[in-house]
Amino acid sequence: MKVGVLALQGAAELHLAALRSIGAAAVPVRRPDELADVDRLILPGGESTTISMMLDANGLTGPLAERLAGGMSTLGTCAGLLLLASEVTDGRDDQHCFGALDISARRNAYGPQTESFEADLPIAALGPSPMTAVFIRSPIVERVGPEVEVLARLDGHPVLCRQGRAWGCTFHPELSGDLRLHRLFCEETA
Ligand code: GLN
Repeated sequence: MKVGVLALQGAAELHLAALRSIGAAAVPVRRPDELADVDRLILPGGESTTISMMLDANGLTGPLAERLAGGMSTLGTCAGLLLLASEVTDGRDDQHCFGALDISARRNAYGPQTESFEADLPIAALGPSPMTAVFIRSPIVERVGPEVEVLARLDGHPVLCRQGRAWGCTFHPELSGDLRLHRLFCEETA
């Protein structure tokens, strides 16, 4: 199984390293032929407006929309979650929301970079010990649709959720050295 990491902008390298350290064949995705070649995809954190523009510039917008509509397993982290959402507030009017996750998310909702923080999150799907989650200019999920399963919350807000094969988290799981979410995403067959 080949797992791609969208590598146009943002935190791709650490996702690739995390995937490789759990034994996955991980490759960067920058072109449509590279997207066509992967079984799963991580959309990393970074800047959703920039990633959105770069998807257009690299001819990936249509192919990514098709793969998502076809049910490809996808994990969007932070900016990646914004790309998977059905609605983004406080974003740019022209940024892409692929709608793989029926959620509304408010961009930069905790404030600027200086308001970044870590939290120990209990995530039952990952086992008994909490995961250290790093939040960097993260969005807040303000609405989840009826098909969305919420796997973790912080202060009442969903921070990890999934809808079918689309997963999204508002934190950076590649930064804490805890590989359980990457492993669960790679092993999931639903
Ligand atoms: N605020 C960023 C955005 O709008 C997301 C931040 C992140 O991915 N760490 O895309």
